Amino acid sequence: MLYERSSRLFAEAEKVIPGGVNSPVRAFRAVGGTPIFVKEAKGAYLYDEDGNRLIDYINSWGPMILGHAYEPVVNAVIDRAKKGTSFGMPTALETEIAGLAVSMVPNIDKIRFVNSGTEACMSAIRLARGFTGRDKIIKFAGCYHGHSDSFLIQAGSGAVTFGSPNSPGVTQGTAKDTLLAAYNDLNNVAELFAANAGEIAAIIIEPVAGNMGCVPPAEGFLEGLRKLCDDNGTLLIFDEVMTGFRLAKGGAQELFNIKADIVAFGKVIGGGLPVGAFAARNEIMNYLAPLGPVYQAGTLSGNPLAMAAGLEMLKALNADAGIFQRLEEKTAYLEKGIREKLEEAGLAYTINRTGSMISVHFDAAPVTDFKSAGKGDNATFKKFFHGLLAEGSYIAPSAYETWFITDALTYEDLDETIAAIGRVSKTL
Ligand SMILES: *Cc1c(COP(=O)(O)O)cnc(C)c1O
Repeated sequence: MLYERSSRLFAEAEKVIPGGVNSPVRAFRAVGGTPIFVKEAKGAYLYDEDGNRLIDYINSWGPMILGHAYEPVVNAVIDRAKKGTSFGMPTALETEIAGLAVSMVPNIDKIRFVNSGTEACMSAIRLARGFTGRDKIIKFAGCYHGHSDSFLIQAGSGAVTFGSPNSPGVTQGTAKDTLLAAYNDLNNVAELFAANAGEIAAIIIEPVAGNMGCVPPAEGFLEGLRKLCDDNGTLLIFDEVMTGFRLAKGGAQELFNIKADIVAFGKVIGGGLPVGAFAARNEIMNYLAPLGPVYQAGTLSGNPLAMAAGLEMLKALNADAGIFQRLEEKTAYLEKGIREKLEEAGLAYTINRTGSMISVHFDAAPVTDFKSAGKGDNATFKKFFHGLLAEGSYIAPSAYETWFITDALTYEDLDETIAAIGRVSKTL
């Protein structure tokens, strides 16, 4: 495959955009090489600027769960655009998508729309702090909740239980309110509660972690967090930006039958337009302005194009009784195929999967948290990534990312990728 035009476009972009990209992972730094510039996409396929066709296993990091340029969404956006693209005033459309979301997701009475997953998580934390009157939060190493200051925190050193900034620009003052725990380690969380009694507003977690590869919760882990929260008057926030409307109609809450106090959404809920949302029961949501004291706002929040896209997406998912089962079966088929090929090649690997989220780590030991995720052989992953790319299959350009399976993928597409994995694996 040729990437002449993509390389040229990247060089031009680098002159006027930092690193040539508007979000760092797109720059391919984790795998090397230059990023591919997309010209258009349809269904399961990306078409790049050099005329290559790629089978897409990322799907805009999740939103395109029914494939690219899904017609009902595209038509709804075109339709709405003709009627005005932003008003900064209420529309009936917002009530319609809110009502549908509330009907699909367990344990939420009200939902507020924002413009990204970052905003959703940031607002969820503020709401939890306002509601409980406490400052500290617990997050898990390797979980990603967007790029707001409170989340750009790494484990502190030695005996210090609070975190330290992992980006310049995040203040020590902010970092001291974020406590870091290891994913799947309940004892660790219990220790943090013991050391910070009465101070923890919320635990925020990806109920299936998807930002260190796919890392499912261990048996009893989410239940244990629920209990710790209940015992300590702490709110449990599920960041379902990735899992929401993907693992089930009601997301991870439904899949694992666990109630979160606040749920954050993004990705699928916007149908490919910039949308995030956060939701909870009345008691908590009524704490938000203009009803309550916790401030939160947005000029473009509830934007009609974004709401039209999200509404069509949720309607399609709500109406299709077989969708999540179908996605699960396709992903299980892919998993089985990859396992066979990696076995044949004699490679050390771990595959984690929950529903239509799947990832491959090149290490035989179980991947259960950030530490074990980091043990994967990155040199092998890089070769795997570029080998598959040359064969026309696009997976995430980083070993720390989940693949997102779309319903637009056919079994023929999956077979094509599995065969490519067979050929590539022999070269690793
Ligand atoms: C993508 C993601 C976010 C951030 O969403 P943006 O729309 O990129 O701001 C937050 N949490 C999780 C779990 C995500 O996967």
